[in-house]
Amino acid sequence: MINLLEDYFELQNKLNVEKFRISQIKNWAFKKKITDINLMTDLPKTLREELSIDFHVLELDSFIEGRDSTKFVFRTKDGHFVESVLINEKDHYTLCISTQIGCAVGCKFCVSTIGGLLRNLSFAEIVDQYFYISIFKNVFIRNIVFMGMGEPLANFDNLKKATLIFLKEFDLSKRHITISTSAYTNYLKRLKEDNLLNKLNLAISLNASSDETRKSLMPNVVGSLKDVFELLKTYPLEPRRRITIEYVLIKDVNSSLKDAKNLVNLLKNLKHKIKVNLIPYNESPILPFERPNESDIYKFQQELLKNDISCTIRWSKGLELAAACGHLSRIRTFDMINI
Ligand code: SAH
Ligand code: SF4
Repeated sequence: MINLLEDYFELQNKLNVEKFRISQIKNWAFKKKITDINLMTDLPKTLREELSIDFHVLELDSFIEGRDSTKFVFRTKDGHFVESVLINEKDHYTLCISTQIGCAVGCKFCVSTIGGLLRNLSFAEIVDQYFYISIFKNVFIRNIVFMGMGEPLANFDNLKKATLIFLKEFDLSKRHITISTSAYTNYLKRLKEDNLLNKLNLAISLNASSDETRKSLMPNVVGSLKDVFELLKTYPLEPRRRITIEYVLIKDVNSSLKDAKNLVNLLKNLKHKIKVNLIPYNESPILPFERPNESDIYKFQQELLKNDISCTIRWSKGLELAAACGHLSRIRTFDMINI
């Protein structure tokens, strides 16, 4: 038995059929979303009977639909949970994908890191979140954000392989795929040098305007803010593209006017290359922090805008499903919410 995703890069060897047959099978599965080999009518009947192909590596455990998003919980072959969130935007769908089981970065405000890192997801497990949900919902998902559980750049090789498949088989545009990273400087350096992945959108989770606060919020992150900005200064960007700076706003921690002014200072030399995305903290019953009140959130934004720094607020979707930023986990948060 072969698996179309797991064996993707060795299909020729494993299947031992002519090349164009492999293209036909991939076309049925990835483009037409048909995974029943008996329905692949342009394959000879004898071949259909001979072939034994599995199309998925994940099993759907459960899903739950909210106002504007659907949270999916998958089970891996070795029995772990992986969560993804499908977000209904105005004119398209965006899928928030997980890249690891757990996370080693240890951010104090994020549920994904509770229990640490268990393992990387394979490229097949990364792709199957998209593949499975596209078939299940029967929709074209135009955008991917690697913003689910895990630090994508800590799983670099699988992230790259998965991206290759997204571009080649699902015809996604590089402009519609975003890597969000806690920005360990060694990972960032590698990303910068990678001529495929550096063409995707980049979002840096800054979350603080001083190394001290950043270290207290994101204890395992490697490298200083200065190192991060040094790398960003020369980050290859296509014309009119910008790097997103993500900043989770937490009450009494990093959301004062003074923090906003410090952030302006930090960013002022990079104004033309960045845009800031403020994420009001999504509360969780198992974490101690609180979201600032709305007027403080808008004051923070105003300070950046006043200084000519492009700045939007991301009111996360999926709060009611524990499916918002920082909520995805390998323990079933699902069981903790009352709907
Ligand atoms: N590990 C990567 C991608 C996953 S986290 C990263 O950290 O970038 C995706 C985004 O969610 C990050 O910007 C992170 O700072 C933010 N986030 C994490 N927990 C959050 C919470 N409780 N509320 C709001 N945003 C949160
Ligand atoms: Fe990991 Fe990102 Fe959560 Fe930090 S915010 S613990 S890097 S998933």
